[in-house]
Amino acid sequence: MEFGGGGRDAGASSAAVRSLRSLSDANQRKFAAPCGACEGKGTYACRLCRGSATIEWSPLYDPVFVNPCLCPTCDGTRVQRCLNCLGKGYA
Ligand SMILES: [Zn+2]
Ligand SMILES: [Zn+2]
Repeated sequence: MEFGGGGRDAGASSAAVRSLRSLSDANQRKFAAPCGACEGKGTYACRLCRGSATIEWSPLYDPVFVNPCLCPTCDGTRVQRCLNCLGKGYA
C-alpha cells in the first residue's frame, strides 16, 4: 500500500530499519541514543490538542457552535506515544 506523497520518507525510514536490524540486539542497545523527538521519555505532549486533552471541533465550521471534544489522538491522556522511537525512548 502506498502512502500518498510520503514515498521518499518511507524509503528512508525502511533503510534505517534495515541498518538497525543488521546490528545485534546487544549492540543496538549499547549504541542506542535517547530519542531526540521525545528526549528519551517515549511520549511527548499531544500535538493535536497541545496538552489540553480536548479539541475544539465545529461540525459546521461555525464559531458559535464549537464543541470541546475528547482528543482522538491521545484519548484525553494529553500525551501521545512518540512516533520516532515508538515509545521505546531511544532510537
Ligand atoms: Zn491530544
Ligand atoms: Zn521518541
